[in-house]
Amino acid sequence: MIRCRVCGRHVCSDDFDHSINACKACSATLCQVCRERLAIGHCAKCGRLVCRRDSVRVGLSRYCIDCARELGLVSEVKNK
Ligand SMILES: [Zn+2]
Ligand SMILES: [Zn+2]
Ligand SMILES: [Zn+2]
Repeated sequence: MIRCRVCGRHVCSDDFDHSINACKACSATLCQVCRERLAIGHCAKCGRLVCRRDSVRVGLSRYCIDCARELGLVSEVKNK
């Protein structure tokens, strides 16, 4: 049994994603940019799950930082 660092549940290694150190259930809801925080939505351009800190909201849409940068929505590269 391994403890998931996100939800704190104990899961067997079959249900654990070792690459991101979280259980499979959490890995499906984690931000796909940082893999640290829970995602709050999808990027309107690439469709990735993104957390609040790794996304930029423009009107009713949300973009991941990579797409936002590509679209010129953010001028400066944020510190990781
Ligand atoms: Zn979990
Ligand atoms: Zn993130
Ligand atoms: Zn994106």
